[in-house]
Amino acid sequence: KVKTRFAPSPTGYLHIGGARTALFSWLYARKHGGSFVLRIEDTDLERSTPEAVNAILEGMGWLGLEYDEGPFYQTKRFDRYKEVIQQLLDEGKAYYCFCSKERLEKLREEQMARKEKPRYDACCRNLNKTPAPGEQAVVRFRNPTEGEVVVNDKVKGAVVFRNSELDDLIIARADGSPTYNFTVVVDDMDMEITHVVRGDDHLNNTPRQMNILKALGATPPVYAHVPMILDENGKKLSKRTGAASVMEYRDKGFLPEAVLNYLVRLGWSHGDQEIFSLDEMIGLFDIADINGAASSLNPSKLTWLNQHYTKTLAPAHVARYLSWHMGELGIDPSQGPALEKVAEAQAERAKTLVEMAQNSVFFYRTPESYDEKAAKKNLKAEARPVLEELKRVLDACEAWEGEQLHAAVQGVAEVLDLKLGKVAQPLRVAVAGGPVSPPIDVTLALLGREATLARIDAAIA
Ligand code: GLU
Repeated sequence: KVKTRFAPSPTGYLHIGGARTALFSWLYARKHGGSFVLRIEDTDLERSTPEAVNAILEGMGWLGLEYDEGPFYQTKRFDRYKEVIQQLLDEGKAYYCFCSKERLEKLREEQMARKEKPRYDACCRNLNKTPAPGEQAVVRFRNPTEGEVVVNDKVKGAVVFRNSELDDLIIARADGSPTYNFTVVVDDMDMEITHVVRGDDHLNNTPRQMNILKALGATPPVYAHVPMILDENGKKLSKRTGAASVMEYRDKGFLPEAVLNYLVRLGWSHGDQEIFSLDEMIGLFDIADINGAASSLNPSKLTWLNQHYTKTLAPAHVARYLSWHMGELGIDPSQGPALEKVAEAQAERAKTLVEMAQNSVFFYRTPESYDEKAAKKNLKAEARPVLEELKRVLDACEAWEGEQLHAAVQGVAEVLDLKLGKVAQPLRVAVAGGPVSPPIDVTLALLGREATLARIDAAIA
C-alpha cells in the first residue's frame, strides 16, 4: 500500500517549495488509494516553534491537503529513537565515539588543508567501549566501508555513492538526543513510508539513510528528489522574491484551486496542459513525470489561473473565500446582497479576490466619497438632469429586477437622446462611488431599490 509523507521542520511558515512537495506526496497517495502522513520534524528545539507548526497546519488546511495520519511530532518519539539506537549498539551496528571536539576540529582542519572532504576518520570504530558513568560519548553508525549505495531516484535517475566517501554518521549526541538523519530513518521505517518526495537538497543524506535502513532490516522507500524552485529571473528563491508563505497567496487574493494548479505545474507537466482540476491532478500525476530541471515562478501565470478559477468555479464556492476578504475590509457580507450573487456578478472583472472584495464594498457600505476622476467626469452639472430622470423612472419600476431595470435605464437614454454610457456611467458612479461595477442592471438589482434611490439622491443633493 502506498504511503507518502510530508515532513516539514517547523522553523517557519509553509513556503511554496514545501507546499509543492506536500502536494506531490499527497497526489501520489490519493492516486494510489494510499495514505498521506504529516510528520513534524521538530527535533531542532532551538529553531522549531509552535507558531511555525500552526502556520504549517494552517497552510495545509487552506490548500485542502488533508492527511490521513498525524500530525506526528518527532519530539514525542524520543523513547523510540533511543530504543533503536540501543538496538544498533547491541547488534554492533553502531558504536560509541569518545573523540573530543578539539580532536575532530583539528582533523577537519587538516583535511581541509589537504583539500579533502572533511570526514570522520573512524578513530573509535573498533574501540568497543561503553562510556563509564559521566563519560561523554556520541553514538555513530557503523557505515559500510566498501561497495556502493545506488539511489534509484525517480527524478534524478540512478545516483551512485561510494561507501568509502560516507563516514560514520553521529546518530545520537552526547546527551542521548537523536540526530536529524536518524530520526528520519526510524520514522520512515516505523511509519512504513513507501515513497519519499522531497527537495533535492536532501539527496546527499539519502545514501546514509538507506544504509541505516538496511542495517535495521527495513526496505528503503522509493525516493524522488525534486529540483528547487527558482524565482521568475531564474535565481534562487529568497524570502523577498517569493519563498513566500502559502498564506501570503491567500492574503493576495488567490483561490486555493489556483495555487494548487500553479504548484503542480512547478516541476510537473502533462503534455502542454495548463489547467488541472484536483481530480485531474490526482488522475494524471505520476512521480515519474516530475521534471528534472528546476522550475521558475511565474506570477502572471498564477494570476491567469486565478482568473480562470474565479470564472469557472461555483459562485458559492468563490464566495466562501471572498467572504474572508470582505471581512478583512471590515465588511460583514451577511448585511446586504447574497455574496454568492456578488461573486458571480464580479467574476469577469477581478484578477484577485482582493480586487473583487475592494470592488464589492459598495454593495454593503455606502461609499463615503466618490472616486475623484470618475466624479469629475460623470457627476458634473449636466449629469444632474440625467440622475433626476433616472430616479423618477427607477422609482416607478414595479419589479426591482434585471430586465426591468435594464429597460428603465435604456428608456432614460432614449428619452434624453443620450448614448447608454452617458446615462449608465453617472448612475454607476452615483451608486458604486467609482467607475467599476458589474453591468448596471445587475448592479442595481443586487444593491436594491432603497440603497439605489438613496445614493442617487445623495449624488444630486
Ligand atoms: N524536515 C525536512 C525539511 O523540512 C524534510 C526531510 C525529509 O523530507 O526527509 O527539509
